Amino acid sequence: MARELTVIGGGAVGLICALSAADGGWRVRVYDDGPGRRAAQVAGGMLGCLGEAHPGEEALLAASAASVARWPALLQRLGDPAVTAAENTLLVAGSAADRAYFDESVAFLRGVLPAPDAAEQTAGQLRAAEPGLARTPAGGYLLTGEGAVDNRRLLAALRAALTAAGAELIDERVTDPAAVPGDQVLVAAGLDSAGLVPGGLPGLRGEKGEILRLARTAWSVPPPRHVIRARWHSRNVYLVPREDGLVLGATQYEALDHTDRAPQAGGVADLLSDACELFPGLRTYELTEVAAGIRPMSADGLPIVTRIDRRVLVAAGHGRNGIALAPGTAAQVMDLLCTATESEERSSA
Ligand SMILES: Cc1cc2nc3c(=O)[nH]c(=O)nc-3n(C[C@H](O)[C@H](O)[C@H](O)COP(=O)(O)OP(=O)(O)OC[C@H]3O[C@@H](n4cnc5c(N)ncnc54)[C@H](O)[C@@H]3O)c2cc1C
Repeated sequence: MARELTVIGGGAVGLICALSAADGGWRVRVYDDGPGRRAAQVAGGMLGCLGEAHPGEEALLAASAASVARWPALLQRLGDPAVTAAENTLLVAGSAADRAYFDESVAFLRGVLPAPDAAEQTAGQLRAAEPGLARTPAGGYLLTGEGAVDNRRLLAALRAALTAAGAELIDERVTDPAAVPGDQVLVAAGLDSAGLVPGGLPGLRGEKGEILRLARTAWSVPPPRHVIRARWHSRNVYLVPREDGLVLGATQYEALDHTDRAPQAGGVADLLSDACELFPGLRTYELTEVAAGIRPMSADGLPIVTRIDRRVLVAAGHGRNGIALAPGTAAQVMDLLCTATESEERSSA
C-alpha cells in the first residue's frame, strides 16, 4: 500500500515537491489557499543561477546551479513546450559603472563554478541578439542555457500533471497540520509556513517587489527572445519574454507588513522609466498588470528544508530565486521522506 503525503501549499515549491513524490510512488494530496498570497503567481519565472551570482553567496550559487541542472528533466516531464519562456539570458549594462557591477559578478562566478557559460558581449553583439535594445549599452554578457519559464503556465502544467498522476488538489486553507490526513506532511506554504510549524521559523522574513506585465500591441516591436537582466542607473531591471509580451521586474525592499501586496508608485515608475530606456519599443506595449509580491527570505539566503518531527517536514524560505531552486528542494524532500520510510521499515522488521 502506497504511503500518503499531504502537502500544504500549492506554489512552485509545494507543487514540484508533490510531483516528485507522486512520481516516487507516494499517494499525494495538496492543500492550497489560492493565488492571492502566492509569490510564484507574480514572479518573473527566471531560472536564475549565473545571473543571480553575488559575492558572499557561494552556497546559494552552488544550490542554484544544482537545482537549475534539474530543470530540463522537469520540463520534459511536464511535456508542455509553452512553459519554457526563454533559453538564454543577456546581462546588459547601461554605463561603465553598471558594467563594473556585472564584471564583478562574473569574476565571482568564475571563482566558484568550474566553467560558467558567460561570454562577454560588445554593445553591437547585444543589439544583434536583441535589436529592440537601446542604442548605447555599455556591453554585457551572454549566459547560454540560463532561461526562464512562464510561471503561470508552469503552475497550471504542474497541477495538470499531478491530477493525471492521481494526486488530490484541495483548494482550502489549512490552519493546523496536525488535523490533515497523511502519513507525512510537508509544509510548503511560502511566507505563511512560519505559522504552521511549532515555534515558527526564526529568521523567515519578506522582501517585497513590484512587478509588471505588458502585452505587445499591433504596432509594437516584438518582445525580446532572451531574458534581459539589465543594470541601468545602478538599479536592476529585467525583461522576461512571454508568448504575447513580457514581464518587467522587479523592485526589492524589506516588507514590513506581510499582508501588504499593494504596488507602490515609486517602484512602478522606476521600473517603467528604466525599462523604456533599455528597450524603447516598450512604450507602445499595453500595461496589463501592476502587481507586488513578497519573497519569502531565510536568514542565510538558503532554502529551509528540514524535518520538524516524525510526521512534519518544511520547505520554505526560497527567497528571490524560489522557482529556480524548487527542483533541488524536491530532491532534498524526497531524501527526507525516504529516510523516514526506511527507518520505519527497520523498526517494524
Ligand atoms: C516580484 C517577484 C519576482 C520573483 N521572480 C522570480 C524569478 O524570476 N525566478 C525565481 O526563481 N523566483 C522568483 N521569485 C521568488 C519566487 O516567487 C518564490 O521564491 C517562490 O514562489 C516561493 O515558492 P513557495 O511555493 O515557497 O511559495 P509561494 O509561491 O508563495 O506559494 C505558497 C502557497 O502556499 C499557499 N498557502 C499559504 N498558506 C496556506 C495554508 N495555511 N493552507 C494552504 N495553503 C497555503 C498559498 O496560497 C500559496 O499558493 C520572485 C518573487 C517575487 C515576489
